[in-house]
Amino acid sequence: MEPSSSNTGFIQQQPVINNQFYDDVSYQRVARLFLPSDILDKITPDAAQIGQEILSQQVFDWVTDAEHNQPYLRGNGRDSFGKPKSELVVGEGWRKLQGYGFKKGVVALNYDTDHGPYTRLVQFLRCHLWEASCANTLCPAAMQDGAARLLQRHLFSSAAKKLSPIEREVFQNAYSHLTSRDPTKTWTSGQWMTERTGGSDVSQTETVATYDPFPSSAPVPLASQSESIPLGPWSISGFKWFSSATDSHMTILLARTHPSKGVSAFFAPMRRHNPSLVSHTGESGNGTELNGITIQRLKHKFGTQSLPTAELELKGMRGWLIGEEGKGIQEISTILNITRVHTTVSSMGYLGRSLGIARSFALVRPVGMGKGKRIALSSHPLHMRTLANMTTDYHGMMLLTFYTIHALGLDERSLPSNQAATKVPTPPKELVQPLLRVLSSLHKSYVCKITVPLVYGCMEALGGVGYMQNVESEHLNISRLFRDCCVGAIWEGTTDVLASDTLRALKHPLSGKQSVQALDWLILSSKNAGLVEEWQVLKNKIDTGKQEELLPEARGLVFRIAEIIISVLYLVDAEADPGVEIEAMCARFMEKKGFSVCEAPGKRAREGGLKLDQAIVYGAGKDLAQGAKL
Ligand SMILES: Cc1cc2nc3c(=O)[nH]c(=O)nc-3n(C[C@H](O)[C@H](O)[C@H](O)COP(=O)(O)OP(=O)(O)OC[C@H]3O[C@@H](n4cnc5c(N)ncnc54)[C@H](O)[C@@H]3O)c2cc1C
Repeated sequence: MEPSSSNTGFIQQQPVINNQFYDDVSYQRVARLFLPSDILDKITPDAAQIGQEILSQQVFDWVTDAEHNQPYLRGNGRDSFGKPKSELVVGEGWRKLQGYGFKKGVVALNYDTDHGPYTRLVQFLRCHLWEASCANTLCPAAMQDGAARLLQRHLFSSAAKKLSPIEREVFQNAYSHLTSRDPTKTWTSGQWMTERTGGSDVSQTETVATYDPFPSSAPVPLASQSESIPLGPWSISGFKWFSSATDSHMTILLARTHPSKGVSAFFAPMRRHNPSLVSHTGESGNGTELNGITIQRLKHKFGTQSLPTAELELKGMRGWLIGEEGKGIQEISTILNITRVHTTVSSMGYLGRSLGIARSFALVRPVGMGKGKRIALSSHPLHMRTLANMTTDYHGMMLLTFYTIHALGLDERSLPSNQAATKVPTPPKELVQPLLRVLSSLHKSYVCKITVPLVYGCMEALGGVGYMQNVESEHLNISRLFRDCCVGAIWEGTTDVLASDTLRALKHPLSGKQSVQALDWLILSSKNAGLVEEWQVLKNKIDTGKQEELLPEARGLVFRIAEIIISVLYLVDAEADPGVEIEAMCARFMEKKGFSVCEAPGKRAREGGLKLDQAIVYGAGKDLAQGAKL
């Protein structure tokens, strides 16, 4: 009997975190299900390489640095002589992680690569891998993506209001930066909607934009001297309560132009050229300063601590109107459609990684089984059932998330007739937008909420180590992922706000019927009597109920529709790529949600024991022999 000491006795074997591209069975299934095989073959080498690189020690060191050296305001926003000086400092790790993401085209891919309507799927499969290693750098990237899409519509869509030559030049310049892969050129974007009056309801916006063009007698002041980009004719003042991408180069913001008009959307650069500034070395002429912005303070947050979220005061910020005055909500909805998907994919990325860590830990962690017997957690029937249940929920949400992305891709690039079809139901052209209108709020409302306790479950799966910060083993840091994950159900619309928005979409006097029809088309395609029947009841309720009567039930209604859609997609997946595990997952999901499973494939499979649970968690035929040293 040797007593243990700090260095002797039992020391837990290190879990090995595997490349999620291969290791995450759900990820692989989703890629096979949604992408035509030729596209999947084409993107596999790159995606697999990213899956490996993001687990490197280098990347985790950057993550630790971004979390440890959090953004700060130099001198609390003043220089040594007390002059206001809003200088935000972000750490080396943050910048390196951002640069890596730019190079890998986490945003640019959608704009410089063409996989037809599958381009968005390819992009978000890439983001999914990166989320848990990017230390929130994908948050400004999400807004960058939304801003790029908005400017793209104004630059290239014939439906958009005609741009003046100078507006075109300004927007084109920003668009080129937003879609670049070169870290020295790439811009991220802010998205400033939330004010103290409320983020859910921006109708009370107190920021005011005044049309105040520069006099034609003098040259127009520049945003950037090197690029000769002029500042805009609108002068914007107000207070923005939350700005996450405070280190960005530009922003899209909402402001009011007239008391009787709705809010309007504006583009504004973060900085402007000021030739009168003199540097501490006496240099003049090249100085830049913030474009009428004061960083009031940085927020102290529960999570997303690497992200520079600030309160901003605007005084005479110069900007350009986007679209028509009073139509800001419509403009910003283009961005929200994108940023909501990014938020949901981040939830999936966090959960995917957390499950990956839990799987790896289970392989090496010995536990007691009574009577002195010790087994690896991966052979423990209850632990495996717990992980299998979590994996089943995860896969269902992956299906819903990537189906929404499929609809987004179809909305942006229509399906050429000669393109190899995906295995998932593809809506007829006229139903793509109505379907996307519902899915974009529905999927985020459901997924971002349901994910939180599941990530927590992964923390628990590691026992006490799961609750630690694990900065000394950053690859195991589920507590960071949990903290970051919690914001998903708040920003870009809370669960209830998005549930009400989904209801609004379904009850809309003009487009509501088509949205209901789109869901009808999707759910009926399953030919599953139980699901169809349940949907008919809900549909009838939506048809006959007044919006205000349905409002208190909106969350329940929307979650139920989400569960029906997930079941439909589970059935599609089980048929397209059959196997006992997927059939069991499908049956278990449907049973748990109270749907009749008699028609679900593999009803028998749900009875399966440890081997089946292991196959759900690790994939069929995986060798679990590396197991714990018992
Ligand atoms: C870390 C972080 C970063 C952020 N970054 C940004 C950013 O970069 N840009 C930006 O614009 N915003 C940002 N936000 C703000 C975020 O989008 C808002 O906090 C969110 O939209 C909620 O708005 P609110 O805080 O004003 O809460 P409120 O809108 O006041 O909501 C409070 C509660 O009321 C409920 N509620 C409100 N309205 C309704 C309704 N109509 N129906 C049902 N329930 C309702 C909500 O569900 C919530 O539970 C960020 C927030 C966080 C936490």
